[in-house]
Amino acid sequence: MNYLLKDATVLTMNAKREILRVDVILRDGRISEMGENLTARPGELIQRVDLRGKLLMPGLVQAHVHLCQTIFRGQAEDMELLEWLEEKVWPLEAAHSLDTLHASARLGIAELVMGGCTTALDMGTVHHTEAIFEAAKEMGFRLFTGKAMMDAGKGRPGPMRENTRESLAEAERVKKVWHGSENGRLRYAYAPRFVLSCTEELLVEVVGRARDSGCLLHTHASENTAEIEQVREKHGTDNVAYLYDLGLTGHDVVLAHCVWLTAREMKLLKESETRVAHCPTSNLKLASGVAKLPELIDQQIHVSLGSDGAPCNNGLDMFTEMRIGALLPKHRAGVKAVPAQKMVELATIGGAECLGIARDVGSVEIGKKADLIVLNLDAPHLRPRHDLYTMLCYSGRPSDIQHVFIDGELVVKDRQLIPIDMEVILEDADKALAKVLRRAEL
Ligand SMILES: [Zn+2]
Repeated sequence: MNYLLKDATVLTMNAKREILRVDVILRDGRISEMGENLTARPGELIQRVDLRGKLLMPGLVQAHVHLCQTIFRGQAEDMELLEWLEEKVWPLEAAHSLDTLHASARLGIAELVMGGCTTALDMGTVHHTEAIFEAAKEMGFRLFTGKAMMDAGKGRPGPMRENTRESLAEAERVKKVWHGSENGRLRYAYAPRFVLSCTEELLVEVVGRARDSGCLLHTHASENTAEIEQVREKHGTDNVAYLYDLGLTGHDVVLAHCVWLTAREMKLLKESETRVAHCPTSNLKLASGVAKLPELIDQQIHVSLGSDGAPCNNGLDMFTEMRIGALLPKHRAGVKAVPAQKMVELATIGGAECLGIARDVGSVEIGKKADLIVLNLDAPHLRPRHDLYTMLCYSGRPSDIQHVFIDGELVVKDRQLIPIDMEVILEDADKALAKVLRRAEL
């Protein structure tokens, strides 16, 4: 379907950061025209949508999430990272089957799109990664994901133990089926879980394979002090420095967290153009620490925003990440630490740049894919009208999202999820959790 979006206020996020009052035409999944008084071509079948008083902007980009954990929301409270993983999250992930993982991914994607996210970079669990791709396919979502690779380390439950060869073979199998499918909307990302769960052999091997196939590399790094201490004991160097030595840094690498960095590691991230997914709420909830967002930005390191998994947040809401991300550094670096506009950039075009897809999404410009969201501004918490960046960063909420387009298709219309009945998603998620809890060795 083609769409004629009339009279929108458009927060373009283009290079000039223009805010326009124009009509926008979507054809064949892309933004075809922008301008005043646009009309359909003679004989063209087009759906007209009146956006007077609404805000049209690029869809939000979620740069670090674990859809496999969505049904574990509320199951692992008040624990620090390594204990949280070994005692709760890994045993729960280990108890997933294809159907429970599918239900978890659908619940997560439903929450993301209802909150204005059109793209996510996800880390799967060890098995059943196809269930996550299947959910994204059904729901018309733009997703990068890959199996979590875990061929070493302590605390892994039986079903999550794999050797290097098995881990690589499974990654290849899933990549072959899914990478680039659905008009390029679904992409494989190599996802070694973190340094402590991987052999050096695996890490080196995935770097080569990812670069041969043009896939992203996604891992966790320097989230927690106990983690970086263990990395130092094991490898005699700092976490990010170790990744750098292995070649696991670069413009195609997205490192989640980067809370604990040395000055040298900051330099390495900058020089190598490595991408950072900042997850402020997760870092607070697991008491991991606070990443130095103003310093990362000052050093022109590419930063994006992520919610991380539902059990360490406990929501998948990018508005919260913008708000917390902006507020958190103020007590230390002053009120001007990170401007609201910068936070909106990280959540849109900045996120797209981190994922290597800024040529296609992240701003409202002619020729780009139509990953767009429409916000209804008729809510008390958004009035009186004021600077749009300030409004989005500090006052915006998922409930303000009225319509969501991905690849030019309406995925949310008038706050209703279109591809799948929400009742079914919610019911399936409850059943899936009950099944996992019966099976998990907790
Ligand atoms: Zn994570």
